[in-house]
Amino acid sequence: MHIVILTSAYKESIFSFLKGLNIENCRNCKREIEANVKKCPYCGILNPTIKIKDVWIGIAVVLGFMSFYMLFFK
Ligand SMILES: [Zn+2]
Repeated sequence: MHIVILTSAYKESIFSFLKGLNIENCRNCKREIEANVKKCPYCGILNPTIKIKDVWIGIAVVLGFMSFYMLFFK
C-alpha cells in the first residue's frame, strides 16, 4: 500500500520539476530570473532559486526510484 503512495509522490515530483523550468523569483532580491541559473544576475548570490521545497522534491524522487525498483524486482 505504501508503495502506491510513494509512486504517486514520484509522479508529482516529476511534474513539479518540469513546471519549475521557467521563471522564478530570487530568494534574496525577489527579482524574476531563470529558474535554473547558478547565480542571480542582479544581486549575485549562488543558487538563488534553491528552496526547502526543492530539497523535499529531491527526496521524493529518490523514494520514487526506490519504490519503482521494488515494484520491478518483487
Ligand atoms: Zn537576486
